[in-house]
Amino acid sequence: MKSDQKKQKGFGSTAIHAGHITGENYAHLTPIYASSTYVFDTAEQGMRRFSGAEEGFIYSRWGNPTIKEVEEKIAALEAYGLEKNGQPLKLKALLHASGMAAISNLLLGTLKKGDKILSHYSLYGGTQELMNKVLPELGIDSIIVDLRDLQKAEDAIKKNPGIKMLYLETPANPTIQCVDIEQLSLLAKENNLLVAVDNTFATPYLQQPFKYNVDFVLHSTTKFLNGHGTAIGGILIGRDIKLMNGKMLKVHHLLGGNSNSFDAFLLTQGIKTLEVRMERHCTNAMKVANFLKQHAAVASVNYLGLPSHPDYEVAEKQMRHPGAVLSFELKGGLEAGIKFINQLQMCVRAVSLGTCDTLLSHPASMTHYGVPEADRIKYGISNGLIRMSVGIENIDDIMTDLGQALETAMT
Ligand SMILES: *Cc1c(COP(=O)(O)O)cnc(C)c1O
Repeated sequence: MKSDQKKQKGFGSTAIHAGHITGENYAHLTPIYASSTYVFDTAEQGMRRFSGAEEGFIYSRWGNPTIKEVEEKIAALEAYGLEKNGQPLKLKALLHASGMAAISNLLLGTLKKGDKILSHYSLYGGTQELMNKVLPELGIDSIIVDLRDLQKAEDAIKKNPGIKMLYLETPANPTIQCVDIEQLSLLAKENNLLVAVDNTFATPYLQQPFKYNVDFVLHSTTKFLNGHGTAIGGILIGRDIKLMNGKMLKVHHLLGGNSNSFDAFLLTQGIKTLEVRMERHCTNAMKVANFLKQHAAVASVNYLGLPSHPDYEVAEKQMRHPGAVLSFELKGGLEAGIKFINQLQMCVRAVSLGTCDTLLSHPASMTHYGVPEADRIKYGISNGLIRMSVGIENIDDIMTDLGQALETAMT
């Protein structure tokens, strides 16, 4: 094995080269190690590997070369350009079977009965359900306030001494609300709280929460990191290497939410183009937002790149570009939403986000079809709301498709 200490400096080059080690067959890409277990030459070697005296793989739930490459790549990207005491920041990443597995590992590895989580009300649905339905049965409750108001966060911390963790998701799924990582992390650290950030919507190219001294960053790698919609996955990254290699790794091994080499391989290849994809995603999204804003069929556009968005300034402060997810409201309500979605010719009708292709969904007739209308509207899911993850197709094709579907929605 030859350790590849390449001399890359830029973010895009780091995304391509970091984490790669040339193996003994000199394959250009690290192969998919489809092997559940690893052999020992002797009993003594087995002993050395188990005791940690010798590095090496033992069993794929505990580690696999294809998985290790992508873990090191993502750790390098989240740490990109950051320093600690004058030295490059070192981070440790653990790949999981899904974003939810990474979140479960984080919460079950750091919290115990009686501990509380402080978070914002707009969160990914799965995270919200985990906090509302699963964790309370283990004695871990969540305090949900509007974290865009720092005073409310401070009051909640003062009132609830059990709060151990500040859990942020910014931009949040699906509202794209943002919270101020720097301010909230400062407040949390004054009160000895752990801070975790779900960075799925931004990716390390658009936003690096470790800049603000947070403890953990996590992603659903299913989205922009993979970028091609080929695998479900999640990653948990931590700055306390001892904690990551100790308790967090132990919990990871025992909960069994490990990923597999095939998905890790796909993720490695996807990440290599992260920088160019994100650039294109974001320029396309800005053009789409401006196009929709002036269209007669559209009542309003919710995009972080528009100064009308309430979190425009926070996004501008902590993100390189405003991302690629937006939503808009059709004037024609439910009927217009269904007509519009059905009329799309190139853009794809699907939930999820972060793929090369543009994905659109109509929550009222899809994800939230079973939710009573009054409840739906309370959560901001109005009848004519369309969610869109802007892809990297040629912008003219995206606009032509949206334009003709909007015309139909008006008839
Ligand atoms: C999709 C998503 C998750 C969950 O990830 P899975 O890979 O589907 O388990 C968590 N957080 C955010 C912000 C997401 O968009």
